[in-house]
Amino acid sequence: MNIHEYQAKALLKEYGAPVADGLPIFSADEAGAVAEKLGGPLWVVKSQIHAGGRGKGKFKEESAGEKGGVRLAFSKEEVIEFVGQMLGATLVTNQTGEAGKQVNRIYIEDGADIDRELYLSILVDRTSGRVAFVVSTEGGMDIEAVAEETPDKILTVPINPDAGVTADNAIALCDALKLEGTARDDGMHLFPILYKAFVEKDMSLLEINPLIVMENQRLRVLDAKVSFDGNALFRHPDVMALRDKTEEDAKEIEASKYDLAYVALDGNIGCMVNGAGLAMATMDIIKLYGAEPANFLDVGGGASVEKVTAAFKIITSDPNVKGILVNIFGGIMRCDVIAQGVLTAVQEVGLEVPLVVRLEGTRVEEGKKLIAESDLNVIPADDLNDAAQKIVAAVKGA
Ligand code: ADP
Ligand code: MG
Repeated sequence: MNIHEYQAKALLKEYGAPVADGLPIFSADEAGAVAEKLGGPLWVVKSQIHAGGRGKGKFKEESAGEKGGVRLAFSKEEVIEFVGQMLGATLVTNQTGEAGKQVNRIYIEDGADIDRELYLSILVDRTSGRVAFVVSTEGGMDIEAVAEETPDKILTVPINPDAGVTADNAIALCDALKLEGTARDDGMHLFPILYKAFVEKDMSLLEINPLIVMENQRLRVLDAKVSFDGNALFRHPDVMALRDKTEEDAKEIEASKYDLAYVALDGNIGCMVNGAGLAMATMDIIKLYGAEPANFLDVGGGASVEKVTAAFKIITSDPNVKGILVNIFGGIMRCDVIAQGVLTAVQEVGLEVPLVVRLEGTRVEEGKKLIAESDLNVIPADDLNDAAQKIVAAVKGA
């Protein structure tokens, strides 16, 4: 689960990280009062959407002006003007896709005098199997591009979970970021704080791009992106309360109601599969045969007919889906339950795209019989290879 920048900053502030004073607003008439409260003389008006690249982004509406989604304002009047232009407008960045995202919240914060922009993130590093810091002196820009063009400017520091951030770790980070004097003192203090927040709140990503050295040589968290591990959210009602459903895919919200592991993707073949491993294999083989999956979906083990029905409806409600592949290996999950779920869903919402079904395992005969006896137009398949080829052919033929 992701949260907004202003929420992430408030959370990091609780842990003692240096962030600017700022206030979120939800309607344009709050802008003047907030600008006065913060006092200026420099304000930054920041669109709050769950995507980065806002500064360099562009609004779809001409009325929002030529400037991007993060704007420096030099007077209260300018704060009001920018808020009026940006609130409700649709911002397109290199992370939103073409459709862009509507700006429903704006964060107004004190402007900082920037000396240098640095990059810092904390993530779960699969190579070391540990939580690791990733830092670079090349902050404020697209870190993927830095990784591509100048990988030597990025340092990864894995953290030993028993010891936490050691002095040696913090020194290595300070050196990589070329921090001196007061900025170095700030760094030594800040890195353990960020690590503590990451671990205690079960984050999966904490990205600060940029972390800045101000002209007074103090550090400040200028941007903050935080993602939480969805499987640990039950431990954090305070974090759950920060959820902004308007930022989430409607199909993913529906899926979460039924406890389905569902992720919307860009392709056109809808997949209904049980088990994350089989779901990944199914997506891979669809790609192997030259098409793209429209989603990742794991209905899990021992799902009810109701859950399977909901899953199938979520897939068919996606207008990008031009064909569906049901690939089930029944273990705890029973093939007849899957078949019944598919039939129930089709009775309720119809089916307008080709459907390939591959069933194997527990109660497979009962499952196949249910489908055969229905008037459902199913393309049967024998194995994974066969199933993938058939659905790709059906979608490409259509
Ligand atoms: P995004 O990464 O989505 O573009 P950022 O919060 O990183 O958004 O802002 C983009 C740029 O705007 C920053 O790299 C920085 O140069 C500038 N900026 C952002 N916040 C402030 C601030 N409080 N004071 C001064 N400049 C800022
Ligand atoms: Mg940024």
